[in-house]
Amino acid sequence: MISFDFEYYRPGTVEEAVALHRSLREKGKRPRYYSGGTEITTLGRLNQVQTGAVIDLKGITDCHTLQLEKQHVVMGTCVSLNKLKQSQLFPLLSQAISEVADHTARTNITLGGNLCSQIIYRESVLPLLLSDSQVRIAGEGGIKEISIHAAFQKEMQLSEGEFILQVLTEQTYLTHPFYHRKRRKQGSVGYPVVTVSAMKVGEQVRLAFSGLCAFPFRNEQMEQAFNQRKLPLEERITQVIGLLPSEVLEDSEGSAGFRRFVLHQALLDVGAVLEGGDHV
Ligand SMILES: Cc1cc2nc3c(=O)[nH]c(=O)nc-3n(C[C@H](O)[C@H](O)[C@H](O)COP(=O)(O)OP(=O)(O)OC[C@H]3O[C@@H](n4cnc5c(N)ncnc54)[C@H](O)[C@@H]3O)c2cc1C
Repeated sequence: MISFDFEYYRPGTVEEAVALHRSLREKGKRPRYYSGGTEITTLGRLNQVQTGAVIDLKGITDCHTLQLEKQHVVMGTCVSLNKLKQSQLFPLLSQAISEVADHTARTNITLGGNLCSQIIYRESVLPLLLSDSQVRIAGEGGIKEISIHAAFQKEMQLSEGEFILQVLTEQTYLTHPFYHRKRRKQGSVGYPVVTVSAMKVGEQVRLAFSGLCAFPFRNEQMEQAFNQRKLPLEERITQVIGLLPSEVLEDSEGSAGFRRFVLHQALLDVGAVLEGGDHV
């Protein structure tokens, strides 16, 4: 049971949603945008989320877009992870999200909700970071389109009243060779010990991680170290692990030492899959 009362709104346009957020804010309602609602209700029951009003984005047509447009695949923020997976428009993203929660939960969990999740893993961002995707953000000033690298730094960087409308990925990235592996403590459902997502663009391998540190990330220095193809793979991996941007997580999913071990194994797999026999 959720122990607090809240109002529910379902605007039909971007402008209405932004105006509603402003007026509810001014009334001290601490409004929250709502897409799948799985996290708001789960954390609401635990009193880890408090709000006086939710603004359901599912009434806005553009939040449901899922199609190829010119050179991009355009994905609305309210598209469920199951629908996104089934579309197979972006195979790496389909694989990454197929490992988030379970099939039933993924019917409700949305792309936007996962990207803006309070829960630290936000695994759907990994393919978006690897493919230099763009994000359409709606707010007081209208709709802006910015790089995922500017929009997502450890977590989604949104100003008050802003929400994610759509994500755009260039079609050229949809077919690059990739590797994606989520290692859990046990079983096939659960949070990651470490998730490694990799994409080969030309001769360069791009790397992104979740579960390793307290936020998902892609890191240029780690990629440069991994791509020094003249060095033995083992030596490159040691360098990559030495360049981690933050402390490795130590929690009930696994110790920092175990996570480093899993990362090492996963990077050996990345080398085998994306470099083939083409490494020393
Ligand atoms: C059983 C279970 C297992 C899970 N396992 C994993 C896992 O392994 N890996 C992983 O990454 N995640 C996992 N999650 C977390 C889950 O992915 C998030 O809780 C979920 O993505 C929330 O999505 P939602 O669409 O229901 O969001 P909501 O509950 O609607 O919203 C979540 C948050 O995002 C904000 N928000 C939603 N949409 C927007 C938007 N368009 N713009 C701005 N802010 C917005 C909301 O205000 C809220 O703060 C799991 C969740 C469950 C229930």
